[in-house]
Amino acid sequence: MKSKYKAMVLSCMDPRFQNLVHNHLKKKKLTGKYSAFTIAGAAVGVTHSKFKKWHKTFYDNLGTSIQLHKIEKLIVINHKDCGAAKIANGKKEFSPDNEKKIHIESFSKIKKQIKKRFPKLKIELNLISLDSKITKF
Ligand SMILES: [Zn+2]
Repeated sequence: MKSKYKAMVLSCMDPRFQNLVHNHLKKKKLTGKYSAFTIAGAAVGVTHSKFKKWHKTFYDNLGTSIQLHKIEKLIVINHKDCGAAKIANGKKEFSPDNEKKIHIESFSKIKKQIKKRFPKLKIELNLISLDSKITKF
């Protein structure tokens, strides 16, 4: 049977954002067409050294999804006011600027990793806020 899944969505486990992420993907007509990988911090969780044990699990799952579901694209959705970004920030003040740096760093790291491990895979980088505004990177 041919699978219809064409994307994997990497998003955070934060309960406040589940509906926002779902609605965003629905607007993009992706309902029922993506596999989901939900983990604290999204790209922060799978790239930052504070969550080292999670990285391999993500890339293994991504590789499996490429094989099983023929996904062509990874859609990353980080979010503002993220607890995992807070942890990654450490003892520094968790200002909007410092948080933005953490997200941008996670985006550039995941982009590099994807290019190295899955060169054919497309990647889309998004940061969503509580008012469901999306910023693309
Ligand atoms: Zn989060």
